[in-house]
This record gives sequence, C-alpha cells and structure tokens, in this order.
Amino acid sequence: YILNETTTEIMSKLGEGAVGTVYKIRHIPTGKLMAIKSVDVYPDETNHRQLLRELSFLKYCNSPYIVKFYGARFVNNEDGQSIYMYMEYCDAGSLDTIYKKIDSMNGRIGEGVLGKVAESVLNGLVYLHKNKIIHRDIKPSNILVTGSGQIKLCDLGVSGELVDSIAQTFVGTSYYMAPERIQGAGYAVTSDVWSLGLSLLEIALNRFPFPPEGAPRLTIIELLDYIVRVPIPSLPESQFSSEIINFIDIW
Ligand code: ATP
Ligand code: MG
Repeated sequence: YILNETTTEIMSKLGEGAVGTVYKIRHIPTGKLMAIKSVDVYPDETNHRQLLRELSFLKYCNSPYIVKFYGARFVNNEDGQSIYMYMEYCDAGSLDTIYKKIDSMNGRIGEGVLGKVAESVLNGLVYLHKNKIIHRDIKPSNILVTGSGQIKLCDLGVSGELVDSIAQTFVGTSYYMAPERIQGAGYAVTSDVWSLGLSLLEIALNRFPFPPEGAPRLTIIELLDYIVRVPIPSLPESQFSSEIINFIDIW
C-alpha cells in the first residue's frame, strides 16, 4: 500500500490514549479500512530516521495474533510533528471498551471467551518471543477484536526510540507493570505474562483488580507500591470455575 494524505481518508476517531489518537481511515485505491495512531513527537530529523528504521521491523511481523502493521510516516501539523502509524483496523474494538459495554448491561464476559483471550494473547506472545520481542504494554486496551472474532495484540513496544521521541512527560508508567518493573528491574518475557494475568482478572471482574473493591482510592505511586507488596488477587470461587481460578493463580 502507498500510504499518504492523497491515498487515504480519515473516517472517524476511534479513541484516545495517554500519548496518541487513533483514527479509522480508508485506503482510497483499494477501499481497505485501516487504523492510524497519531503520536506527537519532538522534531528531530536524525532521531526520526532511526525511529522509522526501528518501526520498519514491525512490517515483518506476521501472525494472526498480532495486529498487522502497514508502515509509518512523519507529518507536519499546526503544533509540530506527529508520527502516523498505519495498522490493521479491528472493527470490534478493544477489550476494555467491550467489557465496559457489557458491564453497563450488567453482563460479564464468559469463561469460554476468557479462555479464547488467554489462548490468543499467549500465541501472540510466543510469536513475539520467537522474534525476540517483548510486548511491554499488554492491557485490555491493547487487545483488539476483529469482526470475525479474532483476538490480536497491538501497540508493540519494540521501539525505545519512540518512547524517547514522544513529546510528553509522563510516559512509560502503567498500572499493568509487573512488580519487578515497578521496582526498576529490566523487562523480561515474564513481565508480559504478569500483565496478561492482570488483564484477564480485569475483564473477568469488569474492573481493574487493584486495590480490592471498597478500598480507598490510591495515587498511582501508592497503587504501584501496593501491587509490589500485596499478594495477587484471585477470582472469587463463588463465581468462577476452579480451572480459570488456578490458571490465573499459577502465574
Ligand atoms: P494508552 O495510551 O494508555 O496505551 P490506549 O491503548 O487506550 O491507552 P491508544 O493506543 O491510543 O490508547 O488507543 C485508543 C483506543 O483506540 C483504544 O482503546 C482502542 O479502543 C482503539 N484502537 C486502537 N487501535 C485500534 C485498531 N487498530 N482498530 C480499532 N480500534 C483501535
Ligand atoms: Mg493502545
């Protein structure tokens, strides 16, 4: 695909995160729907070249469990520069939006679907691991669902360069960080497994599992400190099978 402002048109905004905005777009020559994530970056030409080189690696990622990456380019706009990252569009959205919608109808995601989520994310992680990539940002908003029910990981954290270029200060802290990460150790594959466990607890319970229900609200620092110290919460035995409780407890 040739991807630029003349070959694509923006259709709608899909969502906004801490560092970027995601739009649904259409590739005009083929009619193919795609998503772009726009992230504001510092204008720095040498850094940009390095960043594109790092991202170009993502084009070779080819797995049904990873959102397809089509390419990236820099754009100038009124308030500076952004990088546009073109990726596969997943029409059912992310698991955070899905579970919140189900919760608003007083429903819950069933264990069969939770199993399918776990299987898909683990298949994605196995693929990334074989290619020496650690995801670094597994969480419900980065687990996408296609119209045909496939579950895929997005927002791969391969690029240290991207983190360095993002024009914003509070980047890289996440509630889903494993205790060893919070304590400043390096990333390992097991950190992604921790984040998957937390994500499964969250979509099973319809809420982030820390702190326990009814506890006072904590600041991010207090919450991270708490995650390091307290035992991992379990799913309530009254509502879930022993298989899923054990599956999540094992990690
Ligand atoms: P954070 O910035 O903390 O990582 P986030 O993951 O929600 O949060 P973004 O990655 O900017 O932030 O994504 C914003 C929203 O856009 C997501 O929550 C998701 O619902 C939607 N989205 C992202 N990528 C796609 C895609 N490829 N197809 C469909 N929807 C998407
Ligand atoms: Mg995201």
